[in-house]
Amino acid sequence: MARRSRRLAGEGHDLRPFIINLNIKLETIKHDYLVSSLENTKLRQELKMQEDIFGRELAFLDAQIKTVEIERDFDAKWLGIEMKRLQKMIDDVKSWTSLMKEKVPEAVKKEQELGKSLQAEYKSLIKENVKEAVERNGEAFSWQTCSICVTKYSTEQEHTPRILDCGHTLCLGCCRNFVKGKKLTCPFDRQEIALEGNIKNITINRYVLNFC
Ligand SMILES: [Zn+2]
Ligand SMILES: [Zn+2]
Repeated sequence: MARRSRRLAGEGHDLRPFIINLNIKLETIKHDYLVSSLENTKLRQELKMQEDIFGRELAFLDAQIKTVEIERDFDAKWLGIEMKRLQKMIDDVKSWTSLMKEKVPEAVKKEQELGKSLQAEYKSLIKENVKEAVERNGEAFSWQTCSICVTKYSTEQEHTPRILDCGHTLCLGCCRNFVKGKKLTCPFDRQEIALEGNIKNITINRYVLNFC
């Protein structure tokens, strides 16, 4: 090359600036190549990193999906069991209700009938006892008779014994004679008793009535 340069120089052409220029260009290209190859490597690394991240995220998502699927299956199973359980409860309540609808009125009716027959038996026993006692005494007991009108109490409305708030008893017919406005004055102790609604609402003295 040196010889050739000399020869070329001898021909009067100075090629050195041209060569220097070429060398500079070459260096620039080398540098650019190096930079670009470095950048390439960097890009590749980044790409690899991104791929890794992406891969991990994909795996994570996959796992998530599987978990959700498992949970969904579990939920579906649990829901199925729960629904069956609730349905059974509803069925039980329904059948129990229909059974009760059938049985309760029957039982209540039986109880009422028993109560009625016991009450009737009790009343007839008492009446018999009282009747015997009256026959022995020759006259009715004083408490069987209204002290005002001296009439025997009976189930006939006007002769039913009525107990006042003061505790005294007299027949409904007599009660009417002691009413003034909304008040009834007890003939035995002059206590004023407020009437609530109809005079017929004064409580019947069933204890006395049972013995009449
Ligand atoms: Zn009376
Ligand atoms: Zn009284």
